Amino acid sequence: MVKDDGYKHFNVSEDSLEDSWNSQYMRTVRQKMLNGETLPSCSKCYDLESRGLQSMRDPSNFEKYKNATIDGQVKNSAEHIELHFGNVCNLACKMCSQQFSHKIGQELIDMSKDEPGLSTWLKQQGGVANNWTAELGIVYDWFKKPNTKKQIFEYVSEHVNSMNIVGGEPTAIKEFYELLEFCYDRDTLKNKTITLITNCTNTNSNLTKWLKEVKSFTLYASLDGIGSRNEYIRYPSKWQNIEKSLYFYKDLIKSNNSCKLVFGPTLQTLNIDHLVDMIEYFENFDKQTNIKSDIWWTSVATGPRICDYTVLPDSYKQIVANDLEKKLSRLSQQNSIDQIKKHIASLRQTNDKTLEHKVEILKSFIKYNDKQDTFRKLQIGWRKLLPKLANEIEKYLK
Ligand code: SF4
Repeated sequence: MVKDDGYKHFNVSEDSLEDSWNSQYMRTVRQKMLNGETLPSCSKCYDLESRGLQSMRDPSNFEKYKNATIDGQVKNSAEHIELHFGNVCNLACKMCSQQFSHKIGQELIDMSKDEPGLSTWLKQQGGVANNWTAELGIVYDWFKKPNTKKQIFEYVSEHVNSMNIVGGEPTAIKEFYELLEFCYDRDTLKNKTITLITNCTNTNSNLTKWLKEVKSFTLYASLDGIGSRNEYIRYPSKWQNIEKSLYFYKDLIKSNNSCKLVFGPTLQTLNIDHLVDMIEYFENFDKQTNIKSDIWWTSVATGPRICDYTVLPDSYKQIVANDLEKKLSRLSQQNSIDQIKKHIASLRQTNDKTLEHKVEILKSFIKYNDKQDTFRKLQIGWRKLLPKLANEIEKYLK
């Protein structure tokens, strides 16, 4: 978020949260949204909506800002926050970036060590093959600075009613648990609605104590496939551990009515064919455990470009669309069927001849994934996991 001088960005280590809340940037955003104007920073949501898909925009949120003054200021503090615990993460998922996982930048550095020229190529490919957005080796760990941590913990305990906790991976960061303990000790957890977005690789037995206190708790399980598919996209996760975590959370949910589970897959080139299988697993999980989970449908990868399924060859998209359509009868939830039908319609939109740079993007897809699979010494790389995809891309590029 740009500061009022138009040059620097707000930084939680130097600026108070209150300063940014009523900054010129935020005032302008509020004014424009209330006037129904479009904002360039919201382009991803507009794009999904134009494809008939669901976006993260929630117009009901605008109601909260109806009391903003004419210049966009609001008197109350931010009651809902999305708290990012830096970029410390234990995974390096295909569609992610070093902004969210320090492992990704580190891996790109390590991949380039023995191959002169690869680093330049990877940098040129920023936005196409990877989300190169900053200094690769950077680690954001504001939570390790005592003053910053104190400011955030006190603000959250005192003002925040509802928060989404995101990483990095919060459950791999001890300060995330310290925040829950901080609020527990001050008896403020009971006022809070907490949403934890996690890759499900870790749990903490104390969650049972903390989450009993909160007003409500939602666990977003970020899973992009079942078994080896998730392990490939969300490297180096182990499916066995993820299932163990799911069953841990299931017990928590069953013992507490205010807790719920939401499965949140990110739909992309490497799993769009797997969509019905994933949803079937989620439905079966509910049946076996006797809980009622939801599915978060708005996470669709549009960057890096090689993860955006619309760039795949039309022939492959048709194969996937036909296959998904055949499998739909395996599902019982009508909402899921309707959502998948929207993706089938999106897959049927052809663009082999119209999408700019399609050949280059697909060449980058092959080079990047081949190099990464070799570097990771994978026994099952993308070519073995998705032979039809490999075949259709090779045919398209001939
Ligand atoms: S678990 Fe989340 S933050 Fe970590 S690499 Fe995957 S998507 Fe990024």
